[in-house]
Amino acid sequence: APRAAAPHRVSAEVDLGALRGNVGALRERAAGAALMAVVKSDAYGHGMVPCARAARQAGAAWLGTATPEEALALRAAGDRGRVLCWLWTPGGPWREAIEADVDVSASARWALEEITAAARACGRTARVHLKIDTGLGRNGCRPADWPDLVAAARAAEREGTVEVAGVWSHFACADEPGHPSVAAQLAVFHDALAVAARAGLDPEVRHIANSPATLTLPEAHFDLVRTGISVYGLSPSPEIGAPQDFGLRPAMTLRASLANVKRVPAGHGVSYGHHYTTPGETTLALVPAGYADGIPRHASGTGPVLVAGKWRTVAGRVAMDQFVVDLGGDTAEAGDEAVLFGPGDHGEPTAEDWARAVGTISYEIVTRIGARVPRVHL
Ligand code: PLP
Repeated sequence: APRAAAPHRVSAEVDLGALRGNVGALRERAAGAALMAVVKSDAYGHGMVPCARAARQAGAAWLGTATPEEALALRAAGDRGRVLCWLWTPGGPWREAIEADVDVSASARWALEEITAAARACGRTARVHLKIDTGLGRNGCRPADWPDLVAAARAAEREGTVEVAGVWSHFACADEPGHPSVAAQLAVFHDALAVAARAGLDPEVRHIANSPATLTLPEAHFDLVRTGISVYGLSPSPEIGAPQDFGLRPAMTLRASLANVKRVPAGHGVSYGHHYTTPGETTLALVPAGYADGIPRHASGTGPVLVAGKWRTVAGRVAMDQFVVDLGGDTAEAGDEAVLFGPGDHGEPTAEDWARAVGTISYEIVTRIGARVPRVHL
């Protein structure tokens, strides 16, 4: 596997070859459907622009973002392919998005009205994806309001301000194998598609699948799959499998250089609050990454780190910029490497191990890696 030079303090290496391989594996699995690489939140912490480029190289026909600012940043970086942006609020930069040829999403009449006004103002046709809430209970219009949203969109199509490019939805529980809500959501989605077709809409892409549905539910692939976490080589949940079960490889490795190593006697309190006390004479090593870098404070006493050939556990509290591990009878020197997580095939923990240690999901572990941590793209 490729490696960057040892980091000065801490760095998140991102293996773009792994990311390209993941996109290839997902495209194979999605067979006939096109693939959208979801690159919101700085590509789940992996660095948006380099990851977007790598995903395009591997055949992602679409990129997906939550915020309009993310979509516009892709355009500013030179991306010219299809981009869908879905998280809008009243008064959002619709016109900028339409002029930048970004596909936009509408979950309600107010959004459609703002889109048509913006399209009229700039003399363009906006490509719109109509979103229905098939059961997630988050964004999307209620099924009861769907016929009205569809009729308004059809009227805007006739006026020439809108082209309905997509009809879409999002799953609540696709990461829980056999969950009954999946079939229920699919049934609502099929009904919504039928309503749209009867009203004369002919969307280019119908889409509902996130990573878990892409990996496990072929009947949910439709024309386009929206994959996020799996593009970065992580499994959406341990329940559906490990990354390697799907031909995925975690792209991010978080490495640090030890900032201090010292021998201390038994009974030495460690870090704020002295929640850890050395059980005997031992060696303490200082890892220069803390909660400001995205290391969860909840990892105090639980987070795993590979140092001097073995897994260690965060000793005492994670501080803003640093935490301590107890090396016991082993030795190390300042400047030696600590690997917090990576693909897992060189003895290091994975983001999933961190998620389990702190009671969250791997999505949160990688996405919260702080802006202060340099991303090194390999
Ligand atoms: N589609 C939408 C609307 C999303 O919000 C997300 C991310 O949460 C995704 C797709 C990608 O989900 P995943 O990372 O599970 O593939």
